[in-house]
Amino acid sequence: METKKTRILLIYTGGTIGMVKDYDTGNLKAFNFKKLLSNIPELHQLDCVIETISLDEPIDSSNMDPGHWGKIASVIEDQYDAYDGFVVLHGSDTMSYSASALSFMLENLSKPVIFTGSQLPIGDLRTDAKENLITSIQIAAVQERGRPVIQEVCVYFEYKLFRANRTTKINAEHFEAFQSLNYPPLAESGVHLKIYRENLLSRSRPKKLKVHKLLDTSVGILKLFPGITESFFKNILECEGLKALIIETYGAGNAPTYDWFTTNLKNAIKTGLIIVNVTQCSGGSVIMGKYETSQQLKKLQIINGKDITTEAAITKLMYLLGSNVSSGSIKTIFETSLRGEMK
Ligand code: ASP
Repeated sequence: METKKTRILLIYTGGTIGMVKDYDTGNLKAFNFKKLLSNIPELHQLDCVIETISLDEPIDSSNMDPGHWGKIASVIEDQYDAYDGFVVLHGSDTMSYSASALSFMLENLSKPVIFTGSQLPIGDLRTDAKENLITSIQIAAVQERGRPVIQEVCVYFEYKLFRANRTTKINAEHFEAFQSLNYPPLAESGVHLKIYRENLLSRSRPKKLKVHKLLDTSVGILKLFPGITESFFKNILECEGLKALIIETYGAGNAPTYDWFTTNLKNAIKTGLIIVNVTQCSGGSVIMGKYETSQQLKKLQIINGKDITTEAAITKLMYLLGSNVSSGSIKTIFETSLRGEMK
């Protein structure tokens, strides 16, 4: 009996992986996607059908915004039945944001969506792009009894597959650019490809994919620092149109206990501003009430971001506000893990 080949769609958005050097300026700039494929003839050896699609204008991921996320989501929605898995080629700088956003936008996902990129351009002799791309495709193609084994949005970089909404870019130079400090890897590639099934999101039975493209960007992030002034803090809280603010607090979710800090926070909450407490540490969790310096936040009913990354928190807020979740239920929903993004 002839077995059907797995079909993978590569979605190219830009980033170093597809860049070349402009020798006049010395800058790296995006180039035509067709050249990317001709640079990796090894792709033809993979036992799956690989097709490609590119954003109209490939970009450096510093220019990514929710509009681009909507376009990526639309491609996946339109091609969902035609492919078994999707690999998104994306710049590493904002990859954790985009991949986290997509994890919320794609509800009931039952196929792999794997984001990957590289630190060195594909044409570079020492490039990390080939391994990242080839293994991402191989992982996206893993099936069991005719169904994909990975059924979530992931980031693959330097031999490790992570849940997307658990990742953070931690290094601008090393090939190991991403970390997932609060959740173990989903797979590792060595001589063999090891998938840690116990870490994967499990689905009881496939449901119809629902794509949410409406994201609300009336959100912000404030990182606390010793010496923060009242006027700066107040100005942020009173920023016109702001609906929700993530405060990156210290350690296990601690903040100053100065009167002006608490009073301004209280006033902002009274006017309807949603506040989320996320730790500025790369690993570990917010535990509100553990220290005296987080008691006031607990009393104010601030949302507990627990062990969520800032990237997942900001995109989760955009998604929840875009879905018109009522102000009465946003705390409960935010504090619930929707796509495995928090404990
Ligand atoms: N600046 C590039 C980008 O994020 C870096 C990379 O691709 O790794 O698009």
